Amino acid sequence: MNIIFLGPPGVGKGTIAGMLCKKHGIPHISTGDIFRENIKNGTELGNQAKQYMDKGELVPDEVVNGMVADRLKDPDCAKGFVFDGFPRTMPQAEALARITKIDHVIDLTAPKEVIMSRLGSRRTCRKCGAIFNVLTMPPKVEGMCDKCGGELYVRDDEKPDVISARLKVYEEQTSPLTDYYEKQGLLKKVDATKIPEEIFQEVLSIVE
Ligand code: ADP
Ligand code: ZN
Repeated sequence: MNIIFLGPPGVGKGTIAGMLCKKHGIPHISTGDIFRENIKNGTELGNQAKQYMDKGELVPDEVVNGMVADRLKDPDCAKGFVFDGFPRTMPQAEALARITKIDHVIDLTAPKEVIMSRLGSRRTCRKCGAIFNVLTMPPKVEGMCDKCGGELYVRDDEKPDVISARLKVYEEQTSPLTDYYEKQGLLKKVDATKIPEEIFQEVLSIVE
């Protein structure tokens, strides 16, 4: 089961992808998470990615494609995987098509106002990367991660001006991918304004 989650930043790709991976015991490959992990550990890759991420721009395709190709070689990917935040450009989608076959592309959709409000109210755990939302999915204790007790913070790229930049980048560079996958008969649109459990059920009915 090789699956891609498409959709603008803040639409909830990470939450739904996480639920699906847990149920099926397959890896959740979030390129954004891999970059943040590298930034935290001060690696060369992290330093390279940070300058783009902080501005809401995309990390160059060569960097992302090489990293993903390496990740797919890990034995845990043999049974399938879920991509969250990749591919994000046509060259990335084309590079991916050369190394593996995709079974489903789930396109999560929501109006722009919903997206803006979700992004601004998102909180991320510094320790384990879990995502909360002070409006729709608040943590049990304010400022603290339910899963590991880590501190919750607002990502630098979730400040208002960077959010607008990211949405623009999505429109220009990532939204063309919906046509590309539509033509291959792989695209399934799912309304992402519902509660996560309902969205998840709809996704399950598509992939199972
Ligand atoms: P979101 O889906 O909420 O935008 P991500 O965690 O997926 O957040 O991505 C955060 C940032 O990481 C992006 O704005 C971009 O700079 C970088 N990034 C993540 N995935 C990719 C990718 N596939 N190609 C280029 N840049 C990426
Ligand atoms: Zn945590």
